[in-house]
Amino acid sequence: MSNSPLPLVAALSSSFTTPAFEDFLTSHGQAPLTAKSVSTLQVNMGKVCNQTCHHCHVDAGPQRTESMAKDTIDQIIDVLDRTPQISTVDITGGAPEMNPHFEYLVEQCRIRDRKVIDRCNLTVFYVKGKSHLPEFLALHKVEIIASLPCYQETNVDQQRGKGVFDRSISALQTLNTLGYGKEGTGLHLHLVYNPLGPSLPPPQHDLEQDYKKELMRQHEIHFNQLLTITNMPISRFLEDLRESGQVDSYYALLQKSFNTTTVEDVMCRSLISVGWDGRLSDCDFNQMLDLPLQSSSPQWIRDFNLARLEHRPIVTGPHCFGCTAGAGSSCGGTLT
Ligand code: SF4
Ligand code: SF4
Repeated sequence: MSNSPLPLVAALSSSFTTPAFEDFLTSHGQAPLTAKSVSTLQVNMGKVCNQTCHHCHVDAGPQRTESMAKDTIDQIIDVLDRTPQISTVDITGGAPEMNPHFEYLVEQCRIRDRKVIDRCNLTVFYVKGKSHLPEFLALHKVEIIASLPCYQETNVDQQRGKGVFDRSISALQTLNTLGYGKEGTGLHLHLVYNPLGPSLPPPQHDLEQDYKKELMRQHEIHFNQLLTITNMPISRFLEDLRESGQVDSYYALLQKSFNTTTVEDVMCRSLISVGWDGRLSDCDFNQMLDLPLQSSSPQWIRDFNLARLEHRPIVTGPHCFGCTAGAGSSCGGTLT
C-alpha cells in the first residue's frame, strides 16, 4: 500500500501526474522503504532565523516563534544516554543557534562523546549576542555545515538576501583562523550548494573543485567538502515553482531522473528527525510537511524506543523523488 498523501499530489500538479513514490519503488522492486538503523538524530531546534531565504524548506525567519524548549532537549539527552547506537546529533533549524538552549544541547552531546553537526547559516555570528559562536563551536569540535549556494555574490544574495555573501565570506575567514577547514585540525567545515532554480545540481566533485579554486583565489578560504543538495519541492521553493508555472516540469525532471542506486542510502533509512516540539519524523522534509511516523511507531522523543524505530516503515510522498533524482540528495550531499 502506498504511503503517499495523494491529495497533496493533486494539489501540486495540474496536468503532469506524479505517481506515488512507493508505487514507483514497487515497480523497481525496491518497496517497501524501511529504516536500517538510527545512527543519527537530526534535531530541528525551531523556525526562528535571522534570514528569510527564497528556498527555505522550513519557512523560517525572524518573525517565527517556534523554538525547542529545554524539557524537550533533556528528553533528547535522555535518549542519548540509553541509546549508544546513536553516534551523531545533527542540529538544524531555522538558525539553531538562535535557540537559547543551543549551547546546552551541544555541550551535553559532546560530554556524551557524540559527533555534533551544526547546520549554520554563517550570518548568525553577526546577530547581537552571538559573536562568541565561532570560538564556542571550535572549542567543542562541532562540525559545521554551512550554506553557500555559489561563490559569486550576486547569486548568493539573490537566493539568501542582500549582504549575505559578504557576511558569509567574513564568517568563513573567521572560522579558518580558528582552524576550521584546514588539514589536521579536526575542525571540519563543509559548504552546501543547492541550485538557484528548478534543476538538478551538477556533479558534486567537479563543483567542489571550482569552489575550492575560486574561494581560495578570491578570498583565501579553506573548506573540507562541498555537499550538493537538490531543492525539495516543498514550502517556499514550491511556492516559487507555482508562481513561475514550473511545478509540473520540476516533478517530471525529478521523476525522469530517478536513480535506483540511491534508494539504499536515502537518509531516512539511518536517521530520525526530532521537531522543535519533540515530534518524530522520518526526515526534516516530512517534518515540514506534517507527515508523522507511521502510526505503529512511537511519535514523540519522550517515547523513543530504538527497537521499535530502527526497522520502521518509512512514510513517503512525492517530494521523495527529490532524494532519488540524479546522483541522489541528502543532508550529507549526493548519495552515489
Ligand atoms: S538560513 Fe536556512 S533556515 Fe534560515 S531562512 Fe535561510 S534556508 Fe531557512
Ligand atoms: S524525503 Fe527523502 S529522506 Fe525524507 S522520507 Fe522521502 S526519501 Fe526519505
